[in-house]
Amino acid sequence: MPLADDIEEFRRNVAKAIEELEEVRSVSDKLTACAVDEIHRHLTQLQDLCEQASIEIKRATEQLIEINTKWGSESLKSYLGQQNKRDIIEKRDSNLITSAMAESLKGGSGLTDVFQDLAEYRQQLGLPIAGSEDDRSTVAKLEIGDRGFFGINSSSNPNPRPITLRVNPISRSHAEADALQQAFDAGVRGGRARLVVDRDLCRACGQNGGVKGMARQLDLEELEVISPSGREVIQLK
Ligand SMILES: [Zn+2]
Repeated sequence: MPLADDIEEFRRNVAKAIEELEEVRSVSDKLTACAVDEIHRHLTQLQDLCEQASIEIKRATEQLIEINTKWGSESLKSYLGQQNKRDIIEKRDSNLITSAMAESLKGGSGLTDVFQDLAEYRQQLGLPIAGSEDDRSTVAKLEIGDRGFFGINSSSNPNPRPITLRVNPISRSHAEADALQQAFDAGVRGGRARLVVDRDLCRACGQNGGVKGMARQLDLEELEVISPSGREVIQLK
C-alpha cells in the first residue's frame, strides 16, 4: 500500500528527529556537571544537534503536507483555496505522464527528449518510471548555461537539503525547489534557465507562483518550464 509506505517513511523521519532531541537532552544534562572549559564544546555540539533536529522536524512536517496533499486532507482545504478533496486527487492523477501522453509527445514537439535525462536519473536512483502505477516521486532538472541541477521531492530524496529560498510550505518539499535551491547554493544568478519536470507543476508551484518566486531569488530574467502537459515561459524582467 503506497499510503502505508508514506506513513512508514514519515514515522522514520519522526524517529530520527526524536533521536537528535534525545541527544540534545543528554548533552544538555552534562552542562550542569561539566568543567568550565568543556562548556563551550558542549554548547557548540548542542547548537549543531538542535539545527539538525530542526531540519528533521521540518522534513517530517513537509512530508506530512505532501501526504496530506497526495491523499486529500480536509485540513488543507483552506490552504488550497477551498479546493475539494476529489479535485486534488483528480488533479494529481491527471498530472502523471501516462505512456499515452509520452507517445503523443513523440509526435513532433520533441518534448520526450528533454525528459530522457530525468528518466535516466530516476533509473540511477532506483525510482519507478514517471507516471507508472507506483510512482510517488517527481524529478526536476534546472538547466542554465552548461550546468544542470537535478531535484527530487524531499520524501523520495536520499539526501534532502535544507531549502533556504523563501517559498510556500508545499513547494518547499517539491522537486522544483530542490533543483532551484542547488542552483542557488552553487551561486547561479541571472540569465535564462530551463526547468524540466516530469510531473505537471502543482498549484502551489505553478498557479500560486512558488517556482516564479524562487526564480526571482536567483535573479533570473526568464525561466522556461517544461512539464508533461507542455511548455510555459515565465518572464521575470
Ligand atoms: Zn509543487
